[in-house]
Amino acid sequence: MHYNTIVIGAGPAGLFAAQMIAKQNLKVLLLERNAKAGKKLLLSGSGQCNFTHAGDMIHFLKCYGEHSRFLKKALLTFDNQMCMDFFQKSGIAYHILPSGKVFPKSMQSEDILDTLLLNCQLANVEFSYNSLVEDITVYDTLFTVETNHNKRYFSDHIIIATGGKSYPKTGSDGSGYILAEHLGHQIIEPKPALTDVRVKDRSFSVLSGLSFQQIELTVWHEHKKVIAYQDDLLFTHKGLSGPVILNASRWINNNDHITINFLYPRTYEEANSYFTKHLSEFGKEELITFLKRLNLPKSFCQVICESLQIDPHILCAKLPRKMREALVQALTKCPFEIESLGGFHMAMATAGGISLKEVNPSTMESRKQKGLYFAGEVLDIDGNTGGYNIQAAFSTAYLCAESIKNKIKK
Ligand SMILES: Cc1cc2nc3c(=O)[nH]c(=O)nc-3n(C[C@H](O)[C@H](O)[C@H](O)COP(=O)(O)OP(=O)(O)OC[C@H]3O[C@@H](n4cnc5c(N)ncnc54)[C@H](O)[C@@H]3O)c2cc1C
Repeated sequence: MHYNTIVIGAGPAGLFAAQMIAKQNLKVLLLERNAKAGKKLLLSGSGQCNFTHAGDMIHFLKCYGEHSRFLKKALLTFDNQMCMDFFQKSGIAYHILPSGKVFPKSMQSEDILDTLLLNCQLANVEFSYNSLVEDITVYDTLFTVETNHNKRYFSDHIIIATGGKSYPKTGSDGSGYILAEHLGHQIIEPKPALTDVRVKDRSFSVLSGLSFQQIELTVWHEHKKVIAYQDDLLFTHKGLSGPVILNASRWINNNDHITINFLYPRTYEEANSYFTKHLSEFGKEELITFLKRLNLPKSFCQVICESLQIDPHILCAKLPRKMREALVQALTKCPFEIESLGGFHMAMATAGGISLKEVNPSTMESRKQKGLYFAGEVLDIDGNTGGYNIQAAFSTAYLCAESIKNKIKK
């Protein structure tokens, strides 16, 4: 059977591209290895699907690490407002949280998936489930796609939308990278992103469940500063989590160090002068009471004091200078050594993937093979937590579809 386009992978990227192309009366086949579409999409946002973010483009372009530039054209061509409008027009009202995260009003990810499937159905996209694509070959301009049942399909265009490697049980286990490699593409080593971390020092594990708002986290690699992020933090049984850790995880490697400023936006110097001034002012107060004035939870202060061998009940006036400095240091530059990142089974995204150098950012077409396209997380892109990954899947899919549509018009 000969198709105009074969899309591989029925996640948000594949579904979105397929319906757009098929709406031009072009023959489109969608091959999905699972028995159903959108397994990961259904899990997204804890089953509520945070499908985009309401921030402006300046904000958006800061949310994809060093790969934002590659995504600029895609995000500007199909932006978050167009994304919200697409679902609204399809009958799905949306809801913007104060944080800017956008969800379907029903808070049900099924609604987003059903809308994508309905659009595919109305446009006559042909689906073949339980079809694991094992190989793609190309002769001249014709692609041959082979699936696990030894079935062969022919097509003028291919969109690889097979996702990354995280949550492999959802079907995205990295097999798309092998397909792309066979077609001459370079793969940047995939690494778990949007994941929590385990730390070597477990003295903080008693704080599991405790969260902090707007702390600053700095990542250090071999004593060199890599990056700093500000957001909320959560202590876990074996380490750290929360948006600040998830977003920074793309920059963190095993054995790196991170430091946390629990007094952010105060710097060490500012905090030190604050302590110097106010410890004498509240000289008759116990240190633990003084620390609570800084909105630091009691259990946390106790652990910090214990780690520095400071009596939390010492009167502020009696705290020696060296101990004060050590305390301020621990509160503004609290060090943790990374034991490991959460694996692919718990990472919400994949850093790495199809090398962006070999993909045209205006069309998502391969620079190596005409007619071959990539959309979504299979590319070497990973966004922050907050709706940026699904938006990137739609925006890159949009460019693929536009490019294929434009070729037909010519
Ligand atoms: C728990 C969790 C929560 C998340 N929450 C959010 C959120 O709220 N907001 C957000 O923006 N992002 C979120 N993400 C990330 C987001 O879900 C992904 O970035 C997005 O699904 C990527 O879309 P995709 O279409 O590129 O790939 P996927 O959704 O991974 O879809 C790829 C599809 O391709 C199929 N496939 C793979 N290989 C083959 C093959 N060889 N042959 C045939 N089919 C194949 C897979 O079975 C799969 O169905 C979350 C991720 C996880 C794991």
